[in-house]
Amino acid sequence: MPDPAILARLKAAVEENFAAETQFLTDLVRFPSLRGQEAPLQDWISRQFAGRGWAVDRFSLADVPLESHPKASPMVDCDPAGSFQVVGTKRAANPKGRSLILQGHIDVVPEGPLEMWTFPPYAGHVQDGWLYGRGANDMKAGVASMVFAMDALAKAGLVPTADIHVQTVTEEESTGNGALATLLRGYRADAALIPEPTGGTITRAHTGTLWFRIRVAGVPVHVAVAQTGSNAIMSAYTLVQALYEHTAEANKAAAAHPWYKDIDSPIKFNPGVIRGGDWASSTPAWCEVDCRIGLLPGQDVAEVQKGIEAVVAATARKDAFLSNNPPSVTWHGFLADGYVLEPGTEAEAVLARAHEAVFGDEMPARITTAVNDTRFYGLYFGIPGLCYGPGGEGNHGFDERTNLAKLKAVTLSIATFIADWCGVEEAT
Ligand SMILES: [Zn+2]
Repeated sequence: MPDPAILARLKAAVEENFAAETQFLTDLVRFPSLRGQEAPLQDWISRQFAGRGWAVDRFSLADVPLESHPKASPMVDCDPAGSFQVVGTKRAANPKGRSLILQGHIDVVPEGPLEMWTFPPYAGHVQDGWLYGRGANDMKAGVASMVFAMDALAKAGLVPTADIHVQTVTEEESTGNGALATLLRGYRADAALIPEPTGGTITRAHTGTLWFRIRVAGVPVHVAVAQTGSNAIMSAYTLVQALYEHTAEANKAAAAHPWYKDIDSPIKFNPGVIRGGDWASSTPAWCEVDCRIGLLPGQDVAEVQKGIEAVVAATARKDAFLSNNPPSVTWHGFLADGYVLEPGTEAEAVLARAHEAVFGDEMPARITTAVNDTRFYGLYFGIPGLCYGPGGEGNHGFDERTNLAKLKAVTLSIATFIADWCGVEEAT
């Protein structure tokens, strides 16, 4: 178990710093760091890291050879040169412990209709022990927890005896290329911890995610003679229905999966954006639907892609117009594998002991039907990827909020994990 004296010092330090941590999280939320618009926040974070005496490396996705890696995902709607990553490194003078990567994503998903929010989504409003806003929970709370876990060590007069990279990345919500870019930049460690809002649970398994854009053509005619045209919006609707049926079939097979067999319909399909048509009195000549579908750990991305393309092609063949004008499928984002953190790693054991010392309970495990960045560490670089962090609600919805008591407790468990994983010595 963690040293009780060190735990007590860290606990006092987290407590003393907590007003500053809450302010830090408010500051993070006030940056509307939507996809492609993260640079101002990454600049601010660079200054924060530099102010702590960490070596700062700020680079864009265009600065690393993304194309060279088979697990880079296509970026159709976003310029890699405008997508910045930040790595703050605190080096040990005489490294003797185990090194660590702490990583959080700072990209957020769109806030949606403003009138659905009780408080403005980028205000960072605090009320009754919750901090509100887009990204407050997913995952700027996690970013605050990892930075202030480091601060707690410093405040307590403890210096880690191994190198630690504190990384803020983009693209977690669309490709994962930000996390991959830090690895391609050369950062490595003996373990990686990603404090996504898991509510103090360890993520045992996450699903993969694929993004694709279907584009369907139509024949525009005056609606007075609609029967002579072809309506691209209705054709897209038919394709979406076929993809829901395909998903239901895939979920039947999922019932045999070793990790997902007890989860009802773990493969989720979502048509998330639709565009199409030009005029209410013309049959639409075009329609585009941006879709997301999940896959299970162990499923092959290319096979699942083929399955989607086959459904779209087969459905088109049943239609006189579409059989001659087949819809296109563009893979425009995530081509992400699922990942299982196999039980039994030393990193997980150390985290579990830190969690137990703070919460007084065993660290629960969760199986999630969403993706996260740990796959890059665990699957392709042989680095155990721990996904464990604070908690709240409303991710990707409205009135997203994070629980401040949970944030404080998780900040302490991460600080304790750092102390035990990396080792610490007294500051001189
Ligand atoms: Zn997230």
